[in-house]
Amino acid sequence: MAFDIDNIRAQFPILSREINGKPLAYLDNAASAQKPQAVIDALSHQMSHSFANVHRGLHTMANETTEAFEGARAKVASFLGAPKAENIVFTKGATEALNLCAYGLAGEINPGDEIIISQMEHHSNIVPWQLLAERTGCAIDVCPLTADGRIDLDAAEAMLTDAHKLVSFAHVSNVLGSVLDARRAADLAHGVGAKLLLDGCQAAPRMRLNMTELDCDFYVMSAHKLYGPTGIGVLWARGEILDAMPPYQGGGAMIDSVTFENTTYAPPPQRFEAGTPMITEAVALHAAINYVDALGLESLFAHESGLAAKLREQLRSINSIRLFGPEKSAGIVSFEMEGVHPHDLGTILDEENVAIRAGHHCAQPLMAHLNVPATARASFGLYSDEADIDALMRGIERTKRIFGQ
Ligand code: PMP
Repeated sequence: MAFDIDNIRAQFPILSREINGKPLAYLDNAASAQKPQAVIDALSHQMSHSFANVHRGLHTMANETTEAFEGARAKVASFLGAPKAENIVFTKGATEALNLCAYGLAGEINPGDEIIISQMEHHSNIVPWQLLAERTGCAIDVCPLTADGRIDLDAAEAMLTDAHKLVSFAHVSNVLGSVLDARRAADLAHGVGAKLLLDGCQAAPRMRLNMTELDCDFYVMSAHKLYGPTGIGVLWARGEILDAMPPYQGGGAMIDSVTFENTTYAPPPQRFEAGTPMITEAVALHAAINYVDALGLESLFAHESGLAAKLREQLRSINSIRLFGPEKSAGIVSFEMEGVHPHDLGTILDEENVAIRAGHHCAQPLMAHLNVPATARASFGLYSDEADIDALMRGIERTKRIFGQ
């Protein structure tokens, strides 16, 4: 299905923002996506129409709000193709979801055990495991990448042993747009008795997901990259894993009963949601999921990966540009321009109201592997179109002139 881009763009108020009389080309969606009016309305409606705390009131609005909050959980479950809503834990973001897993798994990890992550992981899928390693004495292995920038599952297969308790990989790379063969990763992990965690931050906004088909054990994502609000993320995990995990934080809402002698905990997901949760944000996430669902994740993937292919083709015609990552990218293109620091390129593009990201993208070990301090990254969203590519290319041409290329 071809996207009716004009109609879609009209639903994102921010996209009509001009700077210095120039229209916005927003190509920083991998960092955070813009919000459709439906999400903005859901936020505002929830706060202006029916707001209360959840789970503990008996009055009408407390019940309505609880229903809306739990309705959001059910929606997230169906979005992830997860059979049970109680296996969805709301966190403040993907980062917190990963830390929750690392904390919760500590009791199962012993000195001599190993965890395998890849060379391309986001710092959020590295540092929590380093903290876990400090606490437990386990070791962290790094799976290398293929020459074109995908996680090398042949290498993973050769590395994996019974000592590995967890494999934690990005489903889609936030820098290179590479898509993991998640099913094979699951088979490899399970083949040695390890669990598989997928960091789905960049996959959830672009791919149809189904936890049963992926056969992973944990999945994490962030709402703000899925056209939803900041401040809320999701952890999905198999029921038996959540049942076995200790609480991550203590406080209200996560308990069964409290005495000074002995406190018992609520079952998941409440056990992992101490305190007042992100009520308004969950309701807005529900609206965001409705929005992308209506467009269709399959056509959304085709749209963004098609734009990425077009951009790669155009960038390839410029001699000074070096492209990173595989030809087939899920809508994220990283590159460098010889003789121009990515920060300078980003600044010149900003003068044209073209928003890209320049930096290490919270993936310093990947930058070290690519042997660059930073890359320039253009990442597409569902509202991106060829005019965005044209604006970026004009900005690159101007950069070439400024740098005498
Ligand atoms: N993993 C990946 C692949 C990401 O792209 C991001 C966000 N850049 C994160 C984890 C962390 O997500 P958040 O900052 O929303 O917690």
